Amino acid sequence: MESLRAQFYAGRPIANDAMVPEMPELGLVAMAGPNDPAPSLRIANGRVVELDGKAEVAFDLIDEFIARHAIDVAVAEEAMATDDVTFARMLVDPTVPRAACTRLAAGMTPAKHARILASMSPVELLSAITKLRVRRTPSIQAHVTNRVDHPLLLAADAASAVALGFRELETTVPLLRDAPSNALALLVGSQVAAAGALTQCSVEERLELELGMRGLTTYAETVSVYGTEQVFIDGDDTPWSKAFLASCYASRGLKMRFTSGSGAEALMGASEGMSMLYLEARCLALTRGAGSQGVQNGGIDGVNVTASVPGGMREVVAENLLVMLHDLESCTGNDTLMSYSDIRRTAHTLPLLLAGSDFLFSGFGSIPRYDNAFGPSNFNAEDIDDYLVIQRDWGFEGVLRSRKDSDLVALRRRAVDACRAVYRELGLAEFSDGDCEAVVMAHGSLDVPDLDPQLVPRASESIMSGGIGILDVVRALARTGFAVEAERVLEMLRQRLLGDYLQTSAIFDESMKVLSGLTDPNDYAGPGTGYRMTPERLAEIADVRQARTHEALTADQATGRGSVTLRTIGAARSRVRPDEVVVGVSPAFAESVWLTLGGATVGEALRQLLAGLEEEGVVSRIVRVRRSLDVGNIAWTAARLSGSGIGIGIQGKGTTVIHRADLPVLANLELLPNAALISPALYRTVGRNAGRYARGESPDAVLLPDSNEPLGPRFHARVVALVAAERRLVSADDPVELEASWT
Ligand code: CA
Repeated sequence: MESLRAQFYAGRPIANDAMVPEMPELGLVAMAGPNDPAPSLRIANGRVVELDGKAEVAFDLIDEFIARHAIDVAVAEEAMATDDVTFARMLVDPTVPRAACTRLAAGMTPAKHARILASMSPVELLSAITKLRVRRTPSIQAHVTNRVDHPLLLAADAASAVALGFRELETTVPLLRDAPSNALALLVGSQVAAAGALTQCSVEERLELELGMRGLTTYAETVSVYGTEQVFIDGDDTPWSKAFLASCYASRGLKMRFTSGSGAEALMGASEGMSMLYLEARCLALTRGAGSQGVQNGGIDGVNVTASVPGGMREVVAENLLVMLHDLESCTGNDTLMSYSDIRRTAHTLPLLLAGSDFLFSGFGSIPRYDNAFGPSNFNAEDIDDYLVIQRDWGFEGVLRSRKDSDLVALRRRAVDACRAVYRELGLAEFSDGDCEAVVMAHGSLDVPDLDPQLVPRASESIMSGGIGILDVVRALARTGFAVEAERVLEMLRQRLLGDYLQTSAIFDESMKVLSGLTDPNDYAGPGTGYRMTPERLAEIADVRQARTHEALTADQATGRGSVTLRTIGAARSRVRPDEVVVGVSPAFAESVWLTLGGATVGEALRQLLAGLEEEGVVSRIVRVRRSLDVGNIAWTAARLSGSGIGIGIQGKGTTVIHRADLPVLANLELLPNAALISPALYRTVGRNAGRYARGESPDAVLLPDSNEPLGPRFHARVVALVAAERRLVSADDPVELEASWT
């Protein structure tokens, strides 16, 4: 039979995560697998004739492609002769220039890369990432999708995402036929809040390329590559066909990157018994050889496989680092939701955020989980506020910013109006005022009326058959009063002719400046160098929805004002009667502090204490202690003035203590420290107990209600404000006798 403890653990969220032991034969080993080849490279007459233990005659498609296109033979001998530990130290040492690392890495084989990275600790990998990512300024990508491919909702959500700071927006479809409409709606919405956000529509390669060539998307990412030949063959592909596709995009001035990521080969039963990191090292070598601008990897579709084996999360970070070492743009994982546990999914994401990357997320779901057509991301709309606060806590560049709801509503309205106008102008679809208003205010697709199920397919069909492209969108925007958006969309086309955003790690900032490896190179070389947030940016990230000013924290105090009047009638008298209990109040009690943390007025709290004493037939006096705001000291002072030797202390914020004159000041009879949990009824019980002590009884101690709420986060900033109010009234003066009146 299982213990209650074991049954409890079986019900924890993490109990749903399936872990497996290493099984190398199935590819279930993160790094340094027993079957991984030893690194080797032989060059004859400038030609690679042996790669990682395989002679040229035994090369498969991937070996052949890597040998011919991905190894810099000019540095290969020096690179392969560099000891693993020596090179790992170069990666971590901030005084070794980034370029010295990438130069040697270009001459290394996949097995060499994998073996070096597998030897590094998590923090070593992260400090290497800080130095080696290509672009100085981090960025972030969003998923913008919904369950029903609602065009207006896509446009509004794109505007919201850009307003929050996302610079690349990726959409996809539940139904392939909807893709053209989705791409168009996303393009329009993406240019409403600011200029220059890039958009893509992740679908089957042929359609994705066509949408790109028409200008309805402005970058592409979903060109998948794999680490074993079998998976390529299953997909009717080769490294050469992927390289050809990459050049198709480049020829049209479109940014593009590949997608890889560990776990995919094991998922398809074709790992050849190799470790995930070694296979990913092969993917990245061929990505580099194919001339792709970058790669999305580390926690993509296969992340749950990687996460199931020991060391999986370290492998994911290692593969991100390897992208950077190849001098490619890194769009780093943090994509698929990888755990039922909030703690575990955060632990996966946080280290990379602290280290920094070209793209901190390859798909932060900026929409609710249920609307994420890729499946839930590791972070989604539900997590945006948490993310903003974590960004504020650590002061890392998380790229996002908090926006007022009223700002977002205005931007969403503009996006909805623009998208509606374009669909009407191009004869694609009509939307009702009701549709528009619901979308503006919606959190997700569950909040908007159902569309005619044929609306989006018909619009998509019209886009494809009508040959609609980016210039038609520009014209429609310009004709319907959206001149700013028309100009911004047109600029995305103009930039293709300029081609600066075809450089590695290129993005546009909001003023259309290209930030890339060329114009914004990562120059991290230790403390005091590299990307640093400006004071303005630090102020921006400090401004979160949960931030409260001092005034806001104390504004509700006014509701308790006048709840009791305490009039000073002279110096505090000492030991007037043997059957009395003295209640000592703090300096600001009913002076400038009027409401306890539990929400009672100070008048009510005091009235209940005195009523409790009266119930026990004990008389009471009230004094104000002015030399201390410490509730123990106040109670002890009151006890010393009390004829029975029993005193109660209470602060304005409601903390209360029962004390006895013969105890040390730091001891007490009963302490109720957590004022937030003290109700008026409990103050009455405290009064009764004090009365019983005065009569020589030993009552049961007052217990606060059970609470596992972390009250500190909610109340401590308020406590600081209320304690400051007490501190202002502390003086060297003796206690005074008070007379209370309630109105
Ligand atoms: Ca992505």
